[in-house]
Amino acid sequence: MEGEGSILEVTGLEKSYGRNKVLKGVDLTVRKGEVIAIIGPSGCGKSTFIRCLNLLEEPDCGKIVYKGTDLVSADKKTRSETLKDIGMVFQQFNLFPHKTVMDNVTMAPQLVSKMSKEDAEAKAEKYLKLVGMDHKKNSYPTNLSGGQQQRVSIARTLCMEPELILFDEPTSALDPEMVGEVLDVMKKLAEEGITMIVVTHEMGFAKEVANRCMFFYDGVINEEGAPEEFFGNPQSERLKDFLSKVL
Ligand code: ADP
Ligand code: MG
Repeated sequence: MEGEGSILEVTGLEKSYGRNKVLKGVDLTVRKGEVIAIIGPSGCGKSTFIRCLNLLEEPDCGKIVYKGTDLVSADKKTRSETLKDIGMVFQQFNLFPHKTVMDNVTMAPQLVSKMSKEDAEAKAEKYLKLVGMDHKKNSYPTNLSGGQQQRVSIARTLCMEPELILFDEPTSALDPEMVGEVLDVMKKLAEEGITMIVVTHEMGFAKEVANRCMFFYDGVINEEGAPEEFFGNPQSERLKDFLSKVL
């Protein structure tokens, strides 16, 4: 990624729930095309962090500068314009059960981006094909496996053509045999150059696909590095301890 500028610069991000200070000043710079893996123990604030990035949670203070615009201080209009460029994939797929795959995937482009039905369907065809789900476009989510539903929800995100996609444990709700098909799709997106921030427990994916890995601990990024260093030669005792439990 050398020579490419940063797409996202987070500085001093803080968030509390009542007296529980969850984010204690997170700093993170992401360059265009990078894949960042975030790992860390349960309850350490990974979801809170990633949800702050697209303002699903309102940060208390700090900056989230996306392509030069600080989302934290931006007005409502600037926020919603900017956020069209940032997609999110959740652990729970959140598909509408009473709508077909095609309707699920074309809804946001029509509602949010005011795209015509024809244009939205053309995009949907393209992205359903990319995730290998075009043959199920007329099916309903309840007739799909968890892995298939997650691939549809990734296609739904792709239809908005975001430049940055946030993933919050996208494979954690899946039966083990379906994890691979979703990770394969994510790997493909990485190869296409989409910038990705991925909270994950899949250490193999982090090692193989991420450009940089971050260890989230006690409300800050405790350690970061390229995968070989990060997994092969961890520095902090916290990370050593964590890796000894998950690897
Ligand atoms: P992780 O994703 O790393 O497991 P979370 O970001 O979900 O961690 O949670 C971090 C901490 O914030 C936990 O102590 C959790 O209980 C708390 N928390 C998360 N969301 C909320 C919320 N909406 N209201 C109150 N506390 C919350
Ligand atoms: Mg979480």
